[in-house]
Amino acid sequence: MENYNQTVNKMRSVFMSGRTKDLAWRKTQLKALKSMIEEKREEICEVLYKDLRKNKFETRLMEVEFVLNELVDALNALDEWAKPEKVKKTLLTMMDQAFIKSEPYGVVLIIGTWNYPIQLVISPLIGAIAAGNAVIIKPSEISENTSNFLEYTIPQYLDKECIQVINGGVPETTALLAERFDYIFYTGNTVVAKIIAVAAAKYLTPTTMELGGKSPCYVHPDSDLDLVAKRLLWGKLLNSGQTCIAPDYVICNKEVEPELLKRMKATLVEFYGEDVQKSDCFSRIVNNKHFNRMKSLLSCGEVAIGGKTDEKDNYVEPTVLINVKATDPVMETEVFGPILPIFTAKDEVDAITFINSREKPLALYVFAKDKNIQKMFLEKTSSGGVCVNDCLMHCSVTALPFGGVGNSGYGAYHGKFTFDTFSHKRGCLVKKQSLEILNKIRCPPYTDRKLQI
Ligand code: NAD
Repeated sequence: MENYNQTVNKMRSVFMSGRTKDLAWRKTQLKALKSMIEEKREEICEVLYKDLRKNKFETRLMEVEFVLNELVDALNALDEWAKPEKVKKTLLTMMDQAFIKSEPYGVVLIIGTWNYPIQLVISPLIGAIAAGNAVIIKPSEISENTSNFLEYTIPQYLDKECIQVINGGVPETTALLAERFDYIFYTGNTVVAKIIAVAAAKYLTPTTMELGGKSPCYVHPDSDLDLVAKRLLWGKLLNSGQTCIAPDYVICNKEVEPELLKRMKATLVEFYGEDVQKSDCFSRIVNNKHFNRMKSLLSCGEVAIGGKTDEKDNYVEPTVLINVKATDPVMETEVFGPILPIFTAKDEVDAITFINSREKPLALYVFAKDKNIQKMFLEKTSSGGVCVNDCLMHCSVTALPFGGVGNSGYGAYHGKFTFDTFSHKRGCLVKKQSLEILNKIRCPPYTDRKLQI
C-alpha cells in the first residue's frame, strides 16, 4: 500500500499554491478529460465488456456520451458557474457589495462503484475539477478492468499532481479514509455509506452519499400496457438490472397484472429474441457473489416469466415474480439485477401507503394517463427523483439534481449541481472605509432616540 498520507499532503500543498483554482487550469483539465474519453471510446467499450459483458451501445449511451455531455456543459458554462453571484442587499448594506463566491473545498475523494464504473467517477470528477479542487478517485475493485484502465489512462491526460487514481479494495479504502479530505463523494451501498460517514466525521468532512434502494414502479390501470412493458423493461434490464435507479418492483392491481405479464413476455422476445442468453444485448451479473445473491431471490413467490440461470456465465434470465409477500427477501432488499417482482395493491391509495411504509427510494416511477393520479404520487410520496410514464430518463436531464433522500442518500449532482456540490458557497460582504455616518446608528451609546428609528 502506498503512503497515502504523503500523497494527500503533497496534493494539498499543490492545492494551496492556487494551481487548481485558476480557471485556465480547470478548463485545460476538462478539455484533456474530454479528449481522453473521445480518444479512448473503443477501449472503454472493451473494458466494460470484460467487466459486465456490457453491449457497446449501452456503454456508448450510458458511459461515454453521458460524460461527454457533462463535459460539454461544464466547459460551456464554467465562466458563468464560477462568477460571484450577486445577492439582494438590506437597507444597512445598500451601499456595499454582497455576493456568493464559489470556492473549492481542497483535496476531495471520489469513491465509485462498479455498475457504471466510468460515469460514476468521471461525472463527479468533472464537477470537482470545474470547482477547482484537487481530486483522488478510488474506483471499485469489482469492475477491475475499468479501474485499471482509469489508473493507467488518467495520468496520461490529466495533471498528475492534482488528480490521481488510487485502486484497491476495503483495506486500501480504509487506509485512504484515515486521511483528511475536504470533501468525500461516495457512490455505493447504504451499509458502507455509514462507514464512510463515520470516517468523515473525524474531520467534519462534508459528504455526498449516492446510494441505492428499492425504486417502485406503480402501473395505473388506465395505462397503455404495451408502452409500459417496453419502457419498464428497458429501464429494468439495462445493464442486466444493475442500475441504482432501475425499477426494483412493480406495484399494480390484480387486474393489471395478467395483461402486463403478457405484454412483458412479448417485449422480451422483441428485445432479445427467443433465448436471451444468446443475445449480445444483455449484460451479465458482475461476479459470482452477486450471481448467488440473485439466484437466492428466485425462490420468492412464483416465477411467471424466466427463471433460468447459468453460473458458469454469471447469467440470470430476465425474470418476473408474482405472488410475492412484503416480507420476502426480494421485497426487502434492493434487487440490483434482472429480477422484477410484481406486488399487488388494491388501488393507488393502497400503493402509496405501501411505498410510504418503506425507506425513501432513489427513484419512483408512475405510469398513469390520469393527471390526478400523477399529481397524487408527486404530492403524497417522496423519493430522490421521480419519472412519470418512463424509467431512468430523469437522470439524463442535466438540469435536474440527481441524488437520494433518506436511506437512498443525500446531496445531489449532474450539471451545475456537481459544480455546486464541490464548491463551498462563501458569503461575502465588501464594504468601503467611508460613510461611517451610516454605521453610527448601530454603535453604543444606545440612546432612546435610536430605539425610535
Ligand atoms: P462496491 O462494492 O463497489 O462498493 C462501493 C465502493 O465502496 C467501492 O469503491 C469499494 O471499494 C468501497 N468499499 C466497499 N466496502 C468498503 C468498506 N468496508 N470500507 C470502505 N470502503 C468500502 O459497490 P456496492 O456498494 O455494491 O454498489 C452497489 C450499490 O450502489 C447499490 O446499492 C446501488 O444502488 C448503489 N448505487 C448508487 C448509485 C447512485 O448514483 N445513487 C449509482 C450506482 C450504484
